[in-house]
Amino acid sequence: MFKTVLCPVDVNEAGLETRAIATAVPMVRASGGKLTLLAVVLESPVMAAEYLPPDFRENQVREAGEVLARLARETGLPPDQVETRIRHGRPYHEILEEARAIHVELIVMASHRPGLSTYLLGSNATYVVRHAACSVMVIREQTA
Ligand code: ADP
Repeated sequence: MFKTVLCPVDVNEAGLETRAIATAVPMVRASGGKLTLLAVVLESPVMAAEYLPPDFRENQVREAGEVLARLARETGLPPDQVETRIRHGRPYHEILEEARAIHVELIVMASHRPGLSTYLLGSNATYVVRHAACSVMVIREQTA
């Protein structure tokens, strides 16, 4: 049984996370463990910074926090069994860092239907599967 489960959520891809979270919640409920929902806010390229409104980053963090809070509520888990985290950087890198930092036993993440360039898995899922020290479950987008 997995007691600590991490679900990385791309807050700009509404709905992609639904099946991943729905898979993780019963595991956490059964083990009496904890679910962490993680959003990674991408760093804006330095060159773009002067063209962005001053509160751009602040708004991104706030919006990500709101989405995660809603998803956490919708799990129906008691507050001590679900937490939300926001990190900054490249998604796959920060997912791996968070998994290490809080010693998760399982990462459950959704993957896009792959394009030819990525063949079987999207880039974030590929990188996480390859480099995570813990177990990783990839929920593929349904094709039919
Ligand atoms: P892509 O390479 O387009 O991100 P993948 O199919 O490899 O596609 O991965 C999608 C998954 O990666 C999402 O379901 C989510 O779990 C994770 N992910 C992608 N971007 C982020 C982000 N900004 N914050 C947290 N997780 C993310």
